[in-house]
Amino acid sequence: MSKQILILPGDGIGPEIMAEAVKVLELANDKYRLGFELSHDVIGGAAIDKHGVPLADETLDRARAADAVLLGAVGGPKWDTIERDIRPERGLLKIRAQLGLFGNLRPAILYPQLADASSLKPEIVAGLDILIVRELTGGIYFGAPRGTRTLENGERQSYDTLPYSESEIRRIARVGFDMARVRGKKLCSVDKANVLASSQLWREVVEQVAKDYPDVELSHMYVDNAAMQLVRAPKQFDVIVTDNMFGDILSDEASMLTGSIGMLPSASLDANNKGMYEPCHGSAPDIAGKGIANPLATILSVSMMLRYSFNLNDAADAIEQAVSVVLDQGLRTGDIYSAGCTKVGTQEMGDAVVAALRNL
Ligand code: NAD
Repeated sequence: MSKQILILPGDGIGPEIMAEAVKVLELANDKYRLGFELSHDVIGGAAIDKHGVPLADETLDRARAADAVLLGAVGGPKWDTIERDIRPERGLLKIRAQLGLFGNLRPAILYPQLADASSLKPEIVAGLDILIVRELTGGIYFGAPRGTRTLENGERQSYDTLPYSESEIRRIARVGFDMARVRGKKLCSVDKANVLASSQLWREVVEQVAKDYPDVELSHMYVDNAAMQLVRAPKQFDVIVTDNMFGDILSDEASMLTGSIGMLPSASLDANNKGMYEPCHGSAPDIAGKGIANPLATILSVSMMLRYSFNLNDAADAIEQAVSVVLDQGLRTGDIYSAGCTKVGTQEMGDAVVAALRNL
């Protein structure tokens, strides 16, 4: 039976980078007889222009029916002044929540060819390959009650709530252990158990889940130390599992170890490994329409999709290898350019990956 992939290019550079990713996906589909059927729809600002809302019900239905979703990026100045509830980013939050995508995987891989792009010394980051597993649909970003109240002395006070249930912790811990099992077999659970009640439960439940994974070495680290260790000695990590807010912050920190946001893919998975795949960056309105955006994060998101939703590891490896080949050839978009390399545009970069994949 064919597998359905829904393509949502979004806004800004979204359509430009998606066009290149689709070329790579279509070639992989033919070359490895993957049996994918692709369909396209709109999200974000493009959906506001077409339907008046950033995620139409029919698009959500198509996403539910699909086996995986590939997304570009949403947002842009055109929609910045409209009502907050129907801004482009709302479409993204809604699709993640409605599809139950609680497990966010953000690899931070430094391609050896790009070692100069990192702000850290090459010996600290060379060969870096870590994976941050972030809980995406719970914790303080969704917790109630939240709001602002007026105290007796007339001063305003705001508050948020950081709730985590055992089942929420258990399922994200399992994602962390499963990922570690197929990688370096090391899982570091990051929390703030010396201060937060939710972190104490987090640690307890992670310890319980660890009993099912005797082959994975588990460690715990406080988030403040983890932030420090990520810049001091990032290669000590294999997989990190953490809550929504800590993961938000640490994954951005980790992405910068690799130098460019234009290289970083991500996956958001539900309980059955159905997923949505997207680059970590946004819609980059400052360079939209110029044909200079780096399409590699989106192309690498295709590779993650093949690996995590469809278990097609050979085809996923091939796409990653094709990306490595073009970097070896010295081809660079502006964001990863360094002296001595050849500067190329979005389409040229996509074409080069297609050519490299065809020749593998
Ligand atoms: P951004 O990631 O879009 O851009 C930050 C900087 O990185 C810009 O200078 C941009 O030119 C550059 N950049 C990003 N992707 C690039 C690529 N592939 N190639 C080369 N350079 C690249 O973040 P921002 O400027 O804070 O946000 C712009 C818009 O994107 C906003 O509307 C924001 O809400 C939205 N956004 C969307 C997502 C998403 O769709 N997942 C994520 C973040 C921001």
